[in-house]
Amino acid sequence: MSELDKFAPSPLTPLPQVGEGNEVKKLKVATTSLAGCFGCHMSFLDIDERLLELVKLVEFDRSPLTDIKHCGPCDIGIIEGGLCNAENVHVLREFRANCKILIALGACAVNGGLPAQRNHLSLATILEEVYHAQHGLVDGFIPNDPELPLPLDRVHPIHEVVKVDYFIPGCPPSGDAIWKVLTDLLAGREPELGHGLIHYD
Ligand code: SF4
Repeated sequence: MSELDKFAPSPLTPLPQVGEGNEVKKLKVATTSLAGCFGCHMSFLDIDERLLELVKLVEFDRSPLTDIKHCGPCDIGIIEGGLCNAENVHVLREFRANCKILIALGACAVNGGLPAQRNHLSLATILEEVYHAQHGLVDGFIPNDPELPLPLDRVHPIHEVVKVDYFIPGCPPSGDAIWKVLTDLLAGREPELGHGLIHYD
């Protein structure tokens, strides 16, 4: 049995349309960074002045923009980063349980990205190298405080644990790509990235 077998996927429900009738109902959006570098969130901010348009249409729930600590019921959840420890899995499951639509943002969420480069070494080898053998360490030891999240043996992309609705590749994806996907969803369209917006590097 793999270390991820215990994380069963959860069912999806469709996103409600914005602007039904005469009222514009704000959609709730949550974002988080798991095993990532926050570069994808920085790219999110690259939508620049369009953020002002966005906040007319959405309300942010858990996000580095709000500092809310737990994800409540949301229409769209955006995940940066893959899964390298038990806390990442817990947060991802909380997002999947609360978000009608879940988006994997960036290479780390899509396929593990840079953190997954550790996957060709054993976790024991990595911990030994970092906490015992690293040049310049004095009295190094492997941290074992029970408050620390347990590391996983491998770094996993998020689709290995939960159902993901949309993937935005790139390291990071451009602000324009993020804007296109969000505005497509807000308008009730199937998101589509053309050649100018989709890239994998
Ligand atoms: S995809 Fe790139 S920019 Fe985004 S979190 Fe991973 S390393 Fe950072």
